Amino acid sequence: MNIHEHQAKKILKNYGAPVSNGVVILQIDEIKSKIKQLKSKKFVLKAQIHAGGRGKAGGVKLVKDFKELEKESKEMFGKILKTHQTGPEGKKVQRLYIEEASEISKEFYLSCLIDRQSSKIAFISSTEGGVDIEKVAIKNPEKIITTKVELKNNVSEEYVKKIIKPFNFNEKQKQEAEKLVQALFKILKEKDANLIEINPLIITKDNKLICLDAKMNFDDNAMFRRPEIFKLRDLNEEDPIEIEASKNDLSYIKLNGSIGCMVNGAGLAMATMDIIKLHGKEPANFLDVGGGASKEKVSSAFKLILSDKNVQGILINIFGGIMRCDILAQGVVDAAKETNLNVPLVVRLAGTNFKEGKEILDKSGLKILSATDLNDAAKKIVEAIR
Ligand code: ADP
Ligand code: MG
Repeated sequence: MNIHEHQAKKILKNYGAPVSNGVVILQIDEIKSKIKQLKSKKFVLKAQIHAGGRGKAGGVKLVKDFKELEKESKEMFGKILKTHQTGPEGKKVQRLYIEEASEISKEFYLSCLIDRQSSKIAFISSTEGGVDIEKVAIKNPEKIITTKVELKNNVSEEYVKKIIKPFNFNEKQKQEAEKLVQALFKILKEKDANLIEINPLIITKDNKLICLDAKMNFDDNAMFRRPEIFKLRDLNEEDPIEIEASKNDLSYIKLNGSIGCMVNGAGLAMATMDIIKLHGKEPANFLDVGGGASKEKVSSAFKLILSDKNVQGILINIFGGIMRCDILAQGVVDAAKETNLNVPLVVRLAGTNFKEGKEILDKSGLKILSATDLNDAAKKIVEAIR
């Protein structure tokens, strides 16, 4: 789960990390009253969307007075912002953050994330902070320093030194940076974050350290024990189909291809996606209906796939273990009739009650192509949509 910059900055502030003063705007007419809380005359207007790269896409604007702030806010509010992280469809700006402007002397990069491979917490630091960190990682990887630390109470002094070494700070800045490193580590642990990214971390012209941008991502599976974080979820930022799927307890991830897949088991779902690619097409989604799915669950999964306009054909690949093939077949037939299915459908069934399942499909009167194995299934659906 991702949260907005203004929410991440509030968490940082609660943990004693340095952030600028700012106010969040959900409606344009709130600006005048809310802005009174800020001290500076110059502001930075920041589009709040769950994606980076806003600066380059016109989602971060420096404004010199109230008049300009009002004008730019009106322009930004409701706009579709396309950044390198939003994909070509972009994201609609539905809230703004107005922050006191800082005078930047130097921009750095600092992040803290779970490194699954080493079972440690990795800190990444770089002197090349700002809007081009992806390019630095490709062109000058030596400028990106990774320090892996054990998941203990705090970060040991030795490691803190390593993490902040590239920044070349003076004594006072070092002390502030040390506190920041400990704060990031504590947030990661205490709030079940997967990733906290500060880019840029800046030194101002009067030598102060400030976290000027903040991105946080949290472990979905831990949100049951972090209600204070879970309530920060902004459904406007999430794919409506994925929200619907999570309500029905289905693991669904939208992808950009044209073949909708319904599979039971994550491993089989991955294999199905691979084999579709092997036959020259792209999957429209990842969808695992789980072990003992009911007829209703199968039916809602089927409708989810069809609600994606890019879907030109559907491949159902089920291995009946706990799941019974006849139950699946009945769910599919019901959903297909209800939705007036008008794209090719290939079904491959194997395992428990597969004969009964096949009979239900054959008798349904629907145009369903049945497949003998995974390869045959992928070949048939790819041919059918060509
Ligand atoms: P993104 O990473 O989505 O592009 P950032 O919040 O990092 O958005 O902003 C992009 C750039 O805008 C920063 O690198 C910084 O140079 C500038 N900027 C952001 N916030 C402020 C601020 N409060 N004062 C001055 N400059 C800012
Ligand atoms: Mg940034």
